[in-house]
Amino acid sequence: MGAKVAIIGRPNVGKSTLFNRLVGKRLALVDDTPGVTRDRRPGDARLGDLRFTIVDTAGLEDADNASLEGRMRHQTEEAIVEADAVLFVIDARAGVTPLDAHFAEVARKTTTPVILLANKAEGKAGESGLYESFSLGLGDPIGISAEHGEGLSDLYDALKPLVDRIDEEEALAAAGAEVEEARTNIAVDEDGEP
Ligand code: GDP
Repeated sequence: MGAKVAIIGRPNVGKSTLFNRLVGKRLALVDDTPGVTRDRRPGDARLGDLRFTIVDTAGLEDADNASLEGRMRHQTEEAIVEADAVLFVIDARAGVTPLDAHFAEVARKTTTPVILLANKAEGKAGESGLYESFSLGLGDPIGISAEHGEGLSDLYDALKPLVDRIDEEEALAAAGAEVEEARTNIAVDEDGEP
């Protein structure tokens, strides 16, 4: 199983690019067509020696009615609830937008650990957006460039304790189940059953 990590954020911040970066898909596979609605799709992610499942949340930019915000909120909430950790992505070049703030409000209400990523931070163009993102109340941002593969060691440092904890919990649960099974077998033997 392993840890499940969800990528959250408004459309066009680079969620899909980050997803592809972490599952090692070629970046050319990013669909740049505006309005393409993606399903939430899990992928096997690797970052250094970390292995986890990554879930990209759909781009709903094509939804053109008043329910767009509600649908995004619902989908975001669902993804957060199902995840062991959340990568909350903003576009450091665009700065913090009202929609980012809206998403952040949803993310702040959860007990799931949230890692704030200021993407597109290569070069100097992302600097002010990175500092702006402190205001989201999601802790210190990590500047990354999903496209250029920068900032990934800082992301590793932030994710490692979370991924390790889930792996340890699962190993303990598996060991517990084995002990339970052994006990059951012994009990059956004592009853004289095969
Ligand atoms: P999503 O809608 O959040 O999944 O965003 P995408 O991954 O589709 O990316 C939106 C646009 O931002 C695309 O044109 C990407 O090439 C671009 N992009 C993604 N990551 C970076 C980055 O690190 N730096 C820059 N400059 N552009 C990026």
